[in-house]
Amino acid sequence: MDQIKIGKFIAEKRKEENLTQNELAEKLYISDRAISKWERGICLPDVDNMIELCKLFDITISDLLNGEIVDMKDNEKVLEEELLEVIRMKEAKDKHLLQLEVVMGCITSITFLTLVLIAGLGEMAEWMRMTLILIGFIPFMIMVPFAIRIEQTAGYYECPKCKYRYIPTYPSVLWAQHFGRTRKMRCPNCHQKGWHKKVIRK
Ligand SMILES: [Zn+2]
Repeated sequence: MDQIKIGKFIAEKRKEENLTQNELAEKLYISDRAISKWERGICLPDVDNMIELCKLFDITISDLLNGEIVDMKDNEKVLEEELLEVIRMKEAKDKHLLQLEVVMGCITSITFLTLVLIAGLGEMAEWMRMTLILIGFIPFMIMVPFAIRIEQTAGYYECPKCKYRYIPTYPSVLWAQHFGRTRKMRCPNCHQKGWHKKVIRK
């Protein structure tokens, strides 16, 4: 692979789209320094960014990797279509998982509140009251590890400072302060702490 040629090709396509390096960086949620590095042939975009570039420039992965428009054989077209399909499927699955998490959260909260209400208002022995409240906690105990796993692996978190998108580790999600799905975490790219939002696409 000729990185210099690929870099020139990216620059050429970007200009055809009338985008500055900055504007392209914003579209891909990365820094403009990264774009400049690609265009000078210092490094290559990662797979996710390659796919985004192909969509944006309406070119194929083969075009991008060759640094020019190439004629693809039919089997190569099929391969590329399959690759894109895998990515689309992951996005759809992540969306469903996040919806499932909301539903599970509602069910456990309603169960808990109902049991606490019954325990608080009903006439019953003290041990019965305590038992009801404890039972109310059980769905939470079962649900929370699943929910955290979904939060960690479905979609990505975005750093507000450098716009880097990534999948965090389980402990960093588990222990992070959060407000809804937005979590206070340290960015693996710029190493600054901030409130990282959940996003579906990389
Ligand atoms: Zn960052």
